[in-house]
Amino acid sequence: MGLARRIATTGIAMGLAGALAAATGLVGAGAAEAAVRPLPDGSYGLSSYYGPRCMPIRGASTYHQGQDMSARRGTTIKAVAPGRVVKAGSATGFGQVVVIRTNATEGKVFHVYGHVIDGDRFVKAGKNVKRGQRIAQVGSTGTSTAPHLHLEIWKNAYKGSGRTADPLPWMKNHGADLRRGAAWANKRVVPTSCKYFTTTSVNLRSGPGTDYRVLKTVGVNLKLTAKPGDGSGVWRKVNRNGTVGWMHAYYVSPTTTSLGTRYVQVNGLRLRAKPTTSSAVRASLSKGTAVAMIHPTKNGWVKVKAGSKYGFLAAKYLRKSRP
Ligand SMILES: [Zn+2]
Repeated sequence: MGLARRIATTGIAMGLAGALAAATGLVGAGAAEAAVRPLPDGSYGLSSYYGPRCMPIRGASTYHQGQDMSARRGTTIKAVAPGRVVKAGSATGFGQVVVIRTNATEGKVFHVYGHVIDGDRFVKAGKNVKRGQRIAQVGSTGTSTAPHLHLEIWKNAYKGSGRTADPLPWMKNHGADLRRGAAWANKRVVPTSCKYFTTTSVNLRSGPGTDYRVLKTVGVNLKLTAKPGDGSGVWRKVNRNGTVGWMHAYYVSPTTTSLGTRYVQVNGLRLRAKPTTSSAVRASLSKGTAVAMIHPTKNGWVKVKAGSKYGFLAAKYLRKSRP
């Protein structure tokens, strides 16, 4: 279906729904009030869904409190529902955010628009906004890897005693199905297990805080596993070789961390599966190849990441400078 036609059909559907609600006297008597999609139809994709997930980036949350709508930087964001701006500006994690308390008959509802370019460019705290009014632009501020709108819906209160709701069903119940306006949508899957790495040498503790005892110290770039959603605030529950404990999210990452670049000094240097000359060869590296150090040198061998491959190189053929 063409974009114009899709918008036209949506317009008719919303008109009918409104007329029906008015005719039956449901408006203002607990009926779900009409909402609009925050981004133009066809301009966004549904990239990451509400619920438990694996941390997408170092320090990120493991329970996604909102719906991510991937879109071009600068795409206009409209208010989903009318209400009053309670926050417009910077906030930890979001970078820049707009929070609106809506005039909902179902009780207090807060809409949160995260990672926007500049939270107070179009609206200011304390001001009222209309449904569909431009309030911000899609950005990638805060803990974010690419431009997207992170939309959260809170009931009763924003944070504190409030609770989040899954934006997809909430929006659909209010006449604005986010799937209908989406140009594409990722599959909604919750992984059974997450794989992470330590970003430095870090203590694995018996509970989510520095007051808890240290079960063991885990070296840098060592593998951890975790269940999606397992965390408490900035603490993550992880498993290191069968020992289950807690680590601060900042020291947990879905990718390994480079300890420094090293350059191959000879041609045909073999990347080995294990730190021994009898183990399998994963690659043959040419003189001048840059590799990322993953573990410090041990018994003459260094664990490295060469391109996308991990393996061991003989330390004596590596230098900090190009050959
Ligand atoms: Zn998000």
